[in-house]
Amino acid sequence: SFAPLDPPPRLLCGPGPCNPHPRVLQALGATELGHLDPSFLKIMDETKELLKYVWQTKNEFTIPVSGTGTAAMEACVFNLLEPGEKFLVGCNGYFGERLGQIGERCAATVIRMEKPWGKVFSLEEIAEQLERHRPQVLALVHAETSTGACQPMQGIGDLCRKYNCLLLLDTVTSISGIPVYIDNWKVDAAYAGTQKCLSCPPGMAPLTFGPRALEKLKSRKSQVPSYYLDMSLVASYLLGENGGSKRSYHHTAPINMCYAVREALYIAAEEGLEKRWKRHRENAEVFWNGLKQLGLEPLVDKEHRLTSLTTVKIPQGVDGKEVISILLNEYNIEVGGGLGELAGKVWRVGLMGYNSRPDVVLTLLAAFENALRKVGYIKSNRF
Ligand code: PLP
Repeated sequence: SFAPLDPPPRLLCGPGPCNPHPRVLQALGATELGHLDPSFLKIMDETKELLKYVWQTKNEFTIPVSGTGTAAMEACVFNLLEPGEKFLVGCNGYFGERLGQIGERCAATVIRMEKPWGKVFSLEEIAEQLERHRPQVLALVHAETSTGACQPMQGIGDLCRKYNCLLLLDTVTSISGIPVYIDNWKVDAAYAGTQKCLSCPPGMAPLTFGPRALEKLKSRKSQVPSYYLDMSLVASYLLGENGGSKRSYHHTAPINMCYAVREALYIAAEEGLEKRWKRHRENAEVFWNGLKQLGLEPLVDKEHRLTSLTTVKIPQGVDGKEVISILLNEYNIEVGGGLGELAGKVWRVGLMGYNSRPDVVLTLLAAFENALRKVGYIKSNRF
């Protein structure tokens, strides 16, 4: 007694996925190609070039990994660390903690650099930890989706070079939404997701390795403990064997998702990065002003607040879950609840990619106001 598939038309303003751009959805339905067809390999080569632009890097080893953000996170950790090596991880939210757990699974010695959720690390704090522990890899989350905080990156790359440590950066919620400069910041390896500011469905995960990361890959003493995520094997398919033109089968690429990523990146390049970052900032500012009018407050200080994702403090006496369910059931709008230690304390509101638009902000604010009135927090009746 099943009916044909008919998901409700949600406006996705949570921590991701956000609504894909309509052209990206169209690209998903383009005609199928074989994964070694020269026409498909050309699409993948173009995807690499577009990714290099969006990440502001010249790294030739820049690919979309088949899998979601966590797959590329694992790919970085599995390929860049060997058992017993020291892995320093910035833990100021849920995803830093996940990086640490993945490090433990590949038998690295994980050192957690802790900070309260919503705060960021200073250069001095990072220097002190590098001096004390001398790790092989330092991992930071640029845009912590669990807290809404943006880690400043100036100077960290230089510090890592001084200590001969690789710098790994999570850009899942920053790529194409806020400034990311892989080369200028001297980031050695980074990964991302497609379902946030790129406005593509989830399912692929961009990854880039710079020269120092590639050196590490070449000089490994032990085998990468995953076949699927062994980046040397993946490279022989996506980048050509030993950098040459011969491509050999490693896994069947999710062809239509590759089309979608290619189109999403193309749309970002068409708009231009500077304009896209500015759009995210302007719409976030309007949203923050609207929150103030409603008597609501973001968790993170403006200086370090992400524009792609805002954590909003749930006022005392308000049932946060009730508001989430009113927004979903009465307005078809998804916003997220808090993760980990922020569960029950914040709502997470994403204005990402295609959804970073004035009409979305106004719809969201009006729905929030009505929901807050319904739960008794706002007494006036404007709508
Ligand atoms: N890192 C950050 C900052 C994220 O926000 C997410 C997902 O939301 C991930 C990693 C993991 O990505 P995925 O859920 O696509 O596997």
